[in-house]
Amino acid sequence: MPHAVTQSCVGDGSCVYACPVNCIQPTPDDPAFDLAEMLFIDPATCVDCGACVSACPVDAIKPHHELEAGEKAFLQLNAAYHQVPRNRPTLAPVRPRLRVRDFGIPLDVAIVGSGPAAMYAAEELLTIPGARVTVYERLERPNGLVRSGVAPDHRRTRRVSGQLERIRRHPRLAMRLGVEIGADLTHDDLLVQHHAVIYAVGASTDRRLEIPGAELPGVASATSFVGWYNGHPDHAGHAFDLSQRRVAVIGNGNVALDVARMLTVDPETLVDSEIAPPALAALRSSAVEEVSIIGRRGAEFSSFTLPELIGLTTTSNLNVVVDPAELPMDAAADDAKLALLRSLPSEPGPTGRTIRLRYGLAPQRILGADRAEGLELAATDDGGSTTIEAGLVLTAIGYRGLPVPALPYDASRGTVPNDAGRVTGDDGAPMPGTYVAGWIKRGPTGFIGTNKRCAQDTVAELVEDHNAGRLSTARAAVT
Ligand code: SF4
Repeated sequence: MPHAVTQSCVGDGSCVYACPVNCIQPTPDDPAFDLAEMLFIDPATCVDCGACVSACPVDAIKPHHELEAGEKAFLQLNAAYHQVPRNRPTLAPVRPRLRVRDFGIPLDVAIVGSGPAAMYAAEELLTIPGARVTVYERLERPNGLVRSGVAPDHRRTRRVSGQLERIRRHPRLAMRLGVEIGADLTHDDLLVQHHAVIYAVGASTDRRLEIPGAELPGVASATSFVGWYNGHPDHAGHAFDLSQRRVAVIGNGNVALDVARMLTVDPETLVDSEIAPPALAALRSSAVEEVSIIGRRGAEFSSFTLPELIGLTTTSNLNVVVDPAELPMDAAADDAKLALLRSLPSEPGPTGRTIRLRYGLAPQRILGADRAEGLELAATDDGGSTTIEAGLVLTAIGYRGLPVPALPYDASRGTVPNDAGRVTGDDGAPMPGTYVAGWIKRGPTGFIGTNKRCAQDTVAELVEDHNAGRLSTARAAVT
């Protein structure tokens, strides 16, 4: 019996290069890689060598006999991906190597931000002989969304911070914490001190829900709730009223599932996690009984990933329910996410808290005079109106990047305009020595590992500019 990739897969592709028989797909050179919810091992060709297990930064790969009861579904999930015939070479792709022109001066690059995209960019740059990297982080603690965005109960996913720490310890990398670019140092300062700058500052705010009542107490963004339970300095002072019995989460991506799960799991299971102590104390005295997750579109368009849904439905002492009338009758029979949704009960069991998945409902207004008490929703098919009780409403409709001082900004996308990672000015021309990677480059899409390919692509553009003499490394060498 083979190995299997499980829920905590971050899709960074490390295992792909370790596998001697190329049975882990999609590979980073496959266009499907950027959209894949996880990677999948082909049980028919896996030779059970275990090489991928040690390559995986988050221990997401297990031999079948070590799978826990809630992980058995991943055997079928891995196999199902490979039931679709695909052309693939016998051997895994070889990791592309950077070819760097030697101007006699070691390349020196500043990276702004210390999350996955920043550290994967640093890792790639440090493969260049002699290259130096200085990472500037606004906060006094590194690792960006790995520390402040991943739920504390996703312990294995959070292990990717160990991979980032290993990169951080590289002798040619310097980390400067508590330095804000635009306040403590300017973009021009960075270009004087370094040959190039890569901004990997992520998407640190959330998209706003603009409906009447959104300003009421008791309405907050999932971003601030996530930051609160993870002890993010920008959100640690927030307070959430958990004396409410019912909560609504608007939006149904993985962040919505995270906050709903954190509100409903047994808080004692979080004791040995990295949850912020005030949040653990608040969850211990929480009165929340039920969380509704509201999706505007049908269930076939659920934004959460199948691995996260599997994880949610196998959480102990938690009822996950859905009204079959809100599920489509005619969706593809091989849609595994819909099949799992159809297998869920319509009402909770006698014990445990409940997460209720709702579909086809557009929020119209928050109900309540002095604070949130409920939510008015309109059915997207017939326009019919319904209300639900909710003393706390969390909006989880997407992250959004903020403007970066001295750089252009695309307000419609919340990104810095760029051409494959090269920042472009208002005239469309590249800004010398200035690059972006991660969510501020492409918007808040993909998973932790998606940032690895994204960062490597940006570094490749930077190296191309270096080789062509467009960075000050070449100018300094000539003068
Ligand atoms: Fe590939 Fe060996 Fe992992 Fe199987 S156990 S997926 S053969 S690396």
